[in-house]
Amino acid sequence: MSLPSATSYDLVVVGSGPTGSTYVREVYDHHPTARILLLDAGPRLSDPPGGHVKNIPDPGERARAQRASEGPGPAGRPGTWLLGAPDLPAAALSTNVGGMGAHWTGACPRPGGGERIGFVPAAEMDAHLTRAEQLLCVDSHAFDQAPFADEVRGRLSALLDAGRPVHRRVAPMPLAVTGRPDGAHVWSGTDVVLGPAARDERVEIADRCLCPRVVLDAGTATGVMVRDLVTGEERAITARAVVVAADALRTPQLLHASGIRPPALGRYLNDQPQIVHAARLPDDVVTAHRAVTGRTRDEDGAIVPQSGVSWVPYTDAHPFHGQVMQLDASPVPLADDTAVEPGAIVGLGWFCAKDVTADDRVEFDDTTADAYGMPAMRVHHRYTERDLTAIEQAKKAVAEAAAAVGVPLDDSPVLLPAGSSLHYQGTTRMGPADDGTSVCDGHSRVWNTRGLWVAGNNVIPTATACNPTLTSVALAVRGARSLVDHLRSTAGHGGAARQTAADTAETSRTDTDQTAAP
Ligand code: FAD
Repeated sequence: MSLPSATSYDLVVVGSGPTGSTYVREVYDHHPTARILLLDAGPRLSDPPGGHVKNIPDPGERARAQRASEGPGPAGRPGTWLLGAPDLPAAALSTNVGGMGAHWTGACPRPGGGERIGFVPAAEMDAHLTRAEQLLCVDSHAFDQAPFADEVRGRLSALLDAGRPVHRRVAPMPLAVTGRPDGAHVWSGTDVVLGPAARDERVEIADRCLCPRVVLDAGTATGVMVRDLVTGEERAITARAVVVAADALRTPQLLHASGIRPPALGRYLNDQPQIVHAARLPDDVVTAHRAVTGRTRDEDGAIVPQSGVSWVPYTDAHPFHGQVMQLDASPVPLADDTAVEPGAIVGLGWFCAKDVTADDRVEFDDTTADAYGMPAMRVHHRYTERDLTAIEQAKKAVAEAAAAVGVPLDDSPVLLPAGSSLHYQGTTRMGPADDGTSVCDGHSRVWNTRGLWVAGNNVIPTATACNPTLTSVALAVRGARSLVDHLRSTAGHGGAARQTAADTAETSRTDTDQTAAP
């Protein structure tokens, strides 16, 4: 792909992951004449663009697509590259059309209790979460046939369900995946989010195109600079609105590079501590199940590796999010590994809600450039006393859960290196008022910069423990509705001068919303 074909659009979205794609889709659906440019620094991996790499049947091609996403750093988990931040040694990013959404596991739990955002009206948030589930094709029943899944959930329920409201009890994990009649599964990437927008001439997707800067004119975002990463050529693009959805580290980087530097930018960086453990279902349970179904490993070769994903929802009383995945083989060497029945080995991951502080932050150095020529990042992140206490409690909780499931495979649970969650949040967080502790309002509009929205896990202000993408897509749905209003209330193309009156009205609406908080 070379530079975009035009120099003026109604909307430019920087970053083609799930949240940037949500803005594209919502504006495409609700503003039938809007012309939209979607930029990504990474390459296109699929046709239609944004497809999940797990849907690529050929292992060699899949590995090539993963490698193409691994940017300029050393490879992290397949499809990601390591940032190289000592305080977050496992922090990783993806650079490809579809972003991390081409590589993710697709777990889409709804937030609960203290994970929810007090100043966003609950009923409205629920409606946006429902829309997010539609956009991501979330299904809780795609793995209903997984062996031993009911057994695992029954054991976890007996331990954990007492006192929980019905909708926060142990359940199948909602996953962004579609089960096909032939038993295969199709994983949702951003091709699914974009839907018809990916193939319509109103939407242009420019890959290998970096946005080094948002262009501002008197406090209004009037477009972006675009750099073709193959030729190095640059072009200015004008737009009536700009969305930066460039992940939780590169969104604040781009704002910083553009001279937009509110005090909260890059702060409140939130990486969920993750504790893992594993257990094996008791032999008598496995043997009895085999007797009932006649299933053996040989007879049932079609079982997918990801079979049986269960969810222990976060509650304020049990402030951890549990992701329980049955594996098709042991994650640790077993003396008699050949005897392991698919689904009988159970991996348990307990995520904690981080103690969110302003000191945890990503800073940018104007004198040193990263591999893309952007201001170099420096991450500061540490566990507070409260975090260390929560981590010990989570270890105890996951050990109890593993013992309830069966025979633990390790002596004790393990805290993964910081950054392992891949769920970095908070760095452009939303807030009910422009009081220096937030970067944008509850509709994701950057304070004091008209025409500019931010998207991604970075807008989430709360200490979530659950996988955050569903929440950030729901917040993108909310932001996109305000963006459509903005486009409707400003006439014509590229009319930055024409924006002023409408934007003044928009600011007063924001103020009204903000006084309704929490
Ligand atoms: P991203 O998907 O990160 O996309 C950002 C895009 O911006 C990238 O494509 C990047 O190339 C582009 N970009 C950055 N800077 C620029 C620039 N200056 N110019 C142009 N383009 C730029 N989350 C869950 O909720 N559940 C899960 O089960 C889950 N599992 C995961 C498993 C794996 C292996 C991985 C890698 C991630 C997982 N995640 C999961 C995390 C999830 O994928 C992310 O939360 C989600 O993709 C974030 O979406 P996003 O749109 O904010 O950003």
